[in-house]
Amino acid sequence: LLDKLNDPTLAVDKARVGGEWVAESDSGKTFEVTNPATGEVIATLPDMNRVETARAIAVAYKAQKDWAKRTGKERASVLRGLLDLMVANADDLAAILTAEMGKPLAEARGEILYGASYVEWFGEEAKRVYGDVIPGHLSDKRIMVIRQPVGVVGAITPWNFPNAMLARKMAPAIAAGCAMVSKPASETPLSALALAVLAERAGLPPGLFNVVLSTDSPSIGKEMCENDKVRKITFTGSTNVGKILMRQGAEQVLKLGLELGGNAPFIVFDDADLDAAVEGAMVSKYRNNGQTCVCANRLYVQAGVYDAFVEKLADRVKTIKVGDGFEPGVTAGPLITDKSVAKVEEHISDALEQGAKIALGGKRDERGGLFFQPTILTGVTTGMKVAREETFGPVAPVFRFETEEEVIEMANNTEFGLASYFYSKDMSKIFRVAEALEYGMVGINTGLISTEVAPFGGIKQFGQGREGSKYGIDDYTEIKYLCLSI
Ligand code: ADP
Repeated sequence: LLDKLNDPTLAVDKARVGGEWVAESDSGKTFEVTNPATGEVIATLPDMNRVETARAIAVAYKAQKDWAKRTGKERASVLRGLLDLMVANADDLAAILTAEMGKPLAEARGEILYGASYVEWFGEEAKRVYGDVIPGHLSDKRIMVIRQPVGVVGAITPWNFPNAMLARKMAPAIAAGCAMVSKPASETPLSALALAVLAERAGLPPGLFNVVLSTDSPSIGKEMCENDKVRKITFTGSTNVGKILMRQGAEQVLKLGLELGGNAPFIVFDDADLDAAVEGAMVSKYRNNGQTCVCANRLYVQAGVYDAFVEKLADRVKTIKVGDGFEPGVTAGPLITDKSVAKVEEHISDALEQGAKIALGGKRDERGGLFFQPTILTGVTTGMKVAREETFGPVAPVFRFETEEEVIEMANNTEFGLASYFYSKDMSKIFRVAEALEYGMVGINTGLISTEVAPFGGIKQFGQGREGSKYGIDDYTEIKYLCLSI
C-alpha cells in the first residue's frame, strides 16, 4: 500500500485516543486488514477492548467541555482546514480506501470528495446553529431557546463507505461542539485513521476525534451504550445490530442516529424514458458493486416495456469491467467478504429454484476470490429472497407489473423505508407515486440521490435521524429554553 501513496504517513497502523497514537492494545492482541481484491494483508492493528474504549470516552468527555465553548466560526475554520486537506490528499485517501475495501479507484476518489462535501457543509453550518426568541407567556417573561452540543458521541460505521459514513457523522458532531469516539468496521479501519491524521493536521484539538480499533464490536458497542459520559450513538450498519444498540441505549435513554438496512424499489413505468431509466438503474444498482443501502434492490418494470428494458439493461451491464480496483478501466471491484459472496449466491439460487431466469451473469467471476459477475434475473416473484432481503451485491432482480396500484403495494411491502426510485413522464402520476411511496427518499427520473445538501435517511425499520442538510445537525444538539423574568 505504501508505495501507492504520495504521503505514506497517511497510512497509519495505530489507534487514535486523545492526542496519542496507540500502537499496542492493553492485551497485546492485533488484527489484520486485508485487501479484498488480492487477499494480501495490508496492515496489522491493535485490537482494543472495552476498557480502552472507556479511556477514549473519558478523554473525549474532557476535551468536549472546551470545544463547546469555542465559537461556531472557530469550529468552522478547523473543518475548513480538514476539507482542504481531504481534497488535497484525495488521491492518497482513495488509494487507502481501494486497498482496504476494493472499490475502483475512481469511485473511491468520488467517495472521498463526497465525504469532504459533508465536512464543507457542516463546517458552514457550525456558524448557523441558531436558537429562537419566543414572545413571553406573561408580560414580565422573556423566552429564549438555545442549542447546545449533546456531548460525547459514539460512532460505529460500516465498511461499504469507510470514509464518507464516518465523515458525515464526524463533521456535524465537531461542528456542533461535540466530541466523538468512533469505531470503524474492522475490515476497513485505515480510512478512518487517515481522516484522524488530517483532522490533527487541520488543528482539531486532541481528544475530539478518537478512533478505537477492535474486532470485538459487541463489547465496544456495549461500552458506548452503558458509559454515562456518552450521550448519543450514531450507527450505520445492519438492522440487527441497530436493534441491539437501541435496546442497549434504552438504559441511558441515549439519543440514537440509526441508518440500517434498505430494500429500495426501482420502478419503471411504461411511459418512462427507457434510456434514462437504464442509466439510473446502472448507478443505483451497480454502484459500489451493489453494496450500498440506497442500491436498488428490487426493479419493477411495467409489462409494456419489460422486455425492452431488460435487453437495454443487459447491454449496459455487459460493459461493467470486474477486477482489482487499482487496475485502469475497472468499474466493479470484489465483494467485501466470503459471507457477502455466499449471500449473493444464496439469493440467486433461491430465485432460480422458484422459477427465475438468469438474463446475465449469475456466477462467481472467473478471477475467483471475491469477484462476482454483474447479474440480471428475470421472471422474479414476490416470494423470493431477493424480494424481501437486501442482497448487497451486483444482482438486479427484475419484476414485471401491470398497474400503478399493484406496484405501489409491492414497493411498500417491506419493513425498510430508505430510498426508492421511479421513472415516469406523467406529472400527476409523479406526484401520486412520490407521495404514496413509504420511503424517506424518492428519486424521480434519477438513480442518484445522495448529496450533502439533502436530508439522507429513512422511515420504518430503516432507522431514525437524518444526515446532511440543515436537518443533519439537529441530532447533535439539545434544545435548552431560558425563561427570564424582568
Ligand atoms: P455490515 O453487514 O455492514 O458489516 P454490521 O452491523 O455487522 O453490518 O457492521 C456495522 C458496524 O457495526 C461495524 O463497525 C461492526 O463492527 C459493528 N458491529 C457489529 N456488531 C456489533 C454490536 N453487537 N455492537 C456494536 N457494533 C457492532
